[in-house]
Amino acid sequence: MSKLFTLQGKLQNYAWGGSTYIPNLLGIESNSEKYAEYWLGAHVKAPSVLSTPDGKQPLDVYLNANLSKSLGVDIAEKFGRLPFLFKVLDVNDMLSIQVHPSKLEAEKGFSIENEKGIALNAPHRNYKDDNHKPEIMVALSEFWLLHGFLAENLLTQRLKNTPEFVGLLSVFEEEGFLGLYKCVMEQSVAESNQLLRPLIDRILPLYQEGKLHKTSPDYWAAKAVDMAVDTTVLDKGIYSIYFFNIVKATKGEAIFQDAGIPHAYLEGQNMELMANSDNVLRGGLTPKHVDVTELLKHMNFEETIPSIILGALQKDGLERIYKCPVPDFELSQITLSMADLYKSKAKSAQILIIIEGEVVIVEGNTTLVLDKGEAAFLMAESEYQITTPSSATIYKATVPCS
Ligand SMILES: [Zn+2]
Repeated sequence: MSKLFTLQGKLQNYAWGGSTYIPNLLGIESNSEKYAEYWLGAHVKAPSVLSTPDGKQPLDVYLNANLSKSLGVDIAEKFGRLPFLFKVLDVNDMLSIQVHPSKLEAEKGFSIENEKGIALNAPHRNYKDDNHKPEIMVALSEFWLLHGFLAENLLTQRLKNTPEFVGLLSVFEEEGFLGLYKCVMEQSVAESNQLLRPLIDRILPLYQEGKLHKTSPDYWAAKAVDMAVDTTVLDKGIYSIYFFNIVKATKGEAIFQDAGIPHAYLEGQNMELMANSDNVLRGGLTPKHVDVTELLKHMNFEETIPSIILGALQKDGLERIYKCPVPDFELSQITLSMADLYKSKAKSAQILIIIEGEVVIVEGNTTLVLDKGEAAFLMAESEYQITTPSSATIYKATVPCS
């Protein structure tokens, strides 16, 4: 029986997406839509489609019928489903500031909201499921994001250098990260507008004249306002742009978002691998529900020194593994030139996507020729090899086996 199949992902057209990157990758015609995400996984809302010898099947349906064989007995028992979702993202307009709960907090929050009888699709529902949502992303281009609070000395400097925020300096000095964040997030609309309006009036013209750089919070704050539909109420997420690290990841560099780390994707393309969950607590740059009390409970109020993950090149010199401290997933990058032969034995299920070039994958009696943008699903215990007629870059998602 074959253990290697082609896999067709699902497009997600969100307003923040770009117009060309994903259509170019997939080789499809771009219309006027925004192409934000391309999902590879078994999420029930948008399962990928597996091409089996018996015809096409949604991946979730196939896995439900073949879970142990697909994931391996141990992983199937541990998770009861494919534990990860793999995505290509093209971020044109910045995403909301967010924090994800820990596994334990998600279990608690989910059961409390269930007991309260809050409908799963209610706009003010915080916990959509009982799972955590750690995420790792590796940049496919120059990628910009917000990640954790600035170091104490840098935040002090930032407040001093932003004339409109000088008054917040004493709040930070006396009450620290939590006190500062709580102070601005609990402001009334009138109070925050009063503080933010002069700032925006000062920086928006500079942004529009192209005088700001992406390393400056002014650039992103102005961009947020420039793209907002309604600017009568200024989004309190603007404060976070000044409080958090602005990180630039270059192609091939990765960064991990653990529970409690506030973050926001600002611009660029990436491969993202995450646990199967929709638990997002938002902190602004969004028209969606912001529950400040709940947000404060889950955010890490301490300085974060951003850790760029370069990945560990394996002995074969071809595969680079980006290790994460979670049991749900493992991300790696495989780069091949013409003479290279990549060999692997899959302990659990794997999803591969070809980002550049063309490859030939051989598993037992099955051979697949995959072009840029195409993907494959491999079952546990498959033994396979990959070659390329020119050069190729592949990203691989799997479950780490200890
Ligand atoms: Zn996130």
